[in-house]
Amino acid sequence: MKQGKVVLIGAGPGDPGLLTVKGRRILSIADTVIYDRLVGPGILSLIPPSAERIDVGKQSGNHPVPQRQINQILLDHALKGRLVVRLKGGDPFVFGRGGEELDLLEKNGIPFEIVPGITSAIAAPAYAGIPVTHREYASSLHIITAHGKNPGDFLDFSALAALPGTLVFLMGVSSLTTICRGLLQGGLKPQTPASVVEQGTSSMQRTIISTLEQLPEQARNAGICSPAVIVVGEVCGLAQRFHWADRRVLNGIRVLVTRPRNRSSRLTQMLMDLGAEVIEYPCIQTIERPLTPETREALSHISQYSWVVFTSAAGVSAFYHALMECGLDSRVLSSCRFAAIGPTTAQALKKKGISADYIPSVYCCSALAEGLCASLSPDDHVLIPRASEGNHMLTDVMRQNHASYTELPLYDTELINNHTVSFDALCEKEPCYAIFTSASTVRGFAASHPHCSKLPIRAVCIGEQTALEAQAAGLACYVAEEATLDSVVDCLCSIVSRDFLH
Ligand code: SAH
Repeated sequence: MKQGKVVLIGAGPGDPGLLTVKGRRILSIADTVIYDRLVGPGILSLIPPSAERIDVGKQSGNHPVPQRQINQILLDHALKGRLVVRLKGGDPFVFGRGGEELDLLEKNGIPFEIVPGITSAIAAPAYAGIPVTHREYASSLHIITAHGKNPGDFLDFSALAALPGTLVFLMGVSSLTTICRGLLQGGLKPQTPASVVEQGTSSMQRTIISTLEQLPEQARNAGICSPAVIVVGEVCGLAQRFHWADRRVLNGIRVLVTRPRNRSSRLTQMLMDLGAEVIEYPCIQTIERPLTPETREALSHISQYSWVVFTSAAGVSAFYHALMECGLDSRVLSSCRFAAIGPTTAQALKKKGISADYIPSVYCCSALAEGLCASLSPDDHVLIPRASEGNHMLTDVMRQNHASYTELPLYDTELINNHTVSFDALCEKEPCYAIFTSASTVRGFAASHPHCSKLPIRAVCIGEQTALEAQAAGLACYVAEEATLDSVVDCLCSIVSRDFLH
């Protein structure tokens, strides 16, 4: 049997981009993943579907699994020969009980590794614009837990107050008043800058910058909850100038991404970089069809077609899969010319080693067909590998122009109706924006909620066809200038700026 191993991986404080490259790589090959409450959904979505997931953050009664039991689970899975990943919020050794978890493993001779993570103690202040050290203000950094092992443990506030650096308290929200009072009694000035950062680095981050004297009351008034870090020291004063995360144009804005899950990553990344809270809510999935005799026939005579036309990146991958399945490869395409509906499709082709010969200046089916027909000679044949229910505009225009074409339905677009995120949850924050990158994503969305027109959802659409579908579903809708993901994101940014000006 394969030797098992346990890897403790720090998942970082919330922003999925803050998982390390090494952590991500090992997570992608894990057999078992054990995680808890502080690991955010963005990182959980990176767990491979084949891995067993164990949530030790809450049991049925909402109580976390006791530490001894977690240690035992790690051991049991490693003994089965598995690669066990223990994902922990922040860094595994910064108040993460990583040391306790290694104890039993070491005693049982189980190999283990540690992948450090970015701790909330540094990252949450950084996202709030607080450098935890600074030559002018703080020559040391102290990370302190407000929760000792035993309930009676208390902090030596005079010793803490005498330190020359920044104090960062974890697990301290419920004892914020005690901490601030203790530090004042220990000798710190009431005007000492102090702050609390809640859900740091996530799109829900909230920051309060105050003084030691006033912080408890301000945090209480704002309803600050765990997880939050408390920062005390002169460096907190710099946040007024250096705060940046909350200046991002989509900061805290909730956006639904309705594309198929396997095609959403670039869009999701762009939105998150702008500070948005992205909820992946895939409304369609594309499923490649089994090879039919017609497809086999067309592909085995592909050199008879002078043009191959693609209207989606999904079409490009389905085409290549079909080609391979027929025992053919790119060499049979040498006499063909290629058209792509827009840059994303052209990019998918480029990854296969082919530069598109034609991309219309407006990225839509009718422009594609018109442009193509203008350059066709009478004996040209066109092959259109695409979805089984592709947009009829393309073929309508081809027919009007008496072009000779063959449609090759290579994949089906299925609407998804089994969302794990409830609709009410989606709309609790108003307004909520949904991005639609095809008419079929709108159909999937409308099918998943018959009363979607009553929801506070604004549809941001990639093009006119998509917008028509959104209007028909009764959604307030906006259309990107160009049919590209960049343009959709620009469109969202300008709507958000406008919405929040009024
Ligand atoms: N190992 C973790 C800390 C675990 S202790 C790390 O290195 O970050 C749990 C405490 O961490 C919480 O009570 C809170 O004080 C802090 N914390 C964790 N994630 C946080 C976040 N995103 N924002 C603010 N504080 C956070």
